[in-house]
Amino acid sequence: MPQEATRPALEIVVFPMLSDNYGFLIHDPAGGETAVVDPAEAAPALAACAAHGWQLTHILNTHHHGDHVGGNLELKSRTGCKIVGPAYDRERIPGLDLAVDEASGADFGGRHASVFFVPGHTRGHIAYWFAEDYALFCGDTLFSLGCGRLFEGTPAQMWSSLLKLRALPDDTRIYCAHEYTQSNARFALTAEPENAALKAKAEKVATERAAGRFTIPSTLGAEKACNPFLRADQPDLRRRFGGPGVSDADVLGAIRAAKDRF
Ligand SMILES: [Zn+2]
Repeated sequence: MPQEATRPALEIVVFPMLSDNYGFLIHDPAGGETAVVDPAEAAPALAACAAHGWQLTHILNTHHHGDHVGGNLELKSRTGCKIVGPAYDRERIPGLDLAVDEASGADFGGRHASVFFVPGHTRGHIAYWFAEDYALFCGDTLFSLGCGRLFEGTPAQMWSSLLKLRALPDDTRIYCAHEYTQSNARFALTAEPENAALKAKAEKVATERAAGRFTIPSTLGAEKACNPFLRADQPDLRRRFGGPGVSDADVLGAIRAAKDRF
């Protein structure tokens, strides 16, 4: 039987924007398409493309906040790129060309990315999952050692969203949109002080930040072991933030409320 041609892996570039946002370039070396995920601003995205000699063809938006879509219109007018974003929030995504949801998924780079509807931080938030590349672009839903604030959703919605992401393989790379890891670690250690994996991760994060390195991407395996927001159903966290008869979603809500006050 003829060998099926293997498509080269997507190349993914992390670049900083504003004070603590990350943008991501996704490049398919076979077909030449290049997407930027959640451009807060146009200039850093264009500079990152130029540095690699790539031509921007797509924007993938996870949600409507200004630090995720601020560069949309300028990038579209300067490059003619197509803007892909959440169908549920179509009226809030500037320049949207292609509205996607869980049923449609999203086509990019010769691949079909799964789209997860993950409301909580906003009512229409989505995440993009490139299965063959083990890459998840989850915006402000899941952070390394944290999760997004509940601006438009309930703890039950966020817990259900986090469970969808938690079901992915452990070696999934987590491309989240902010460098919050070190401050998240400080809170996580108060939430689960006996978690040895968390203590080790916090030390590693401190070393990386002291050296000026990005802590993103994380991996889902590390987050499952260390991130209290993915662990609201674990006994220690249930004891501290819930109690008998309290739902996992309510435990998640209590952890989130404690983080808001932290
Ligand atoms: Zn946001």
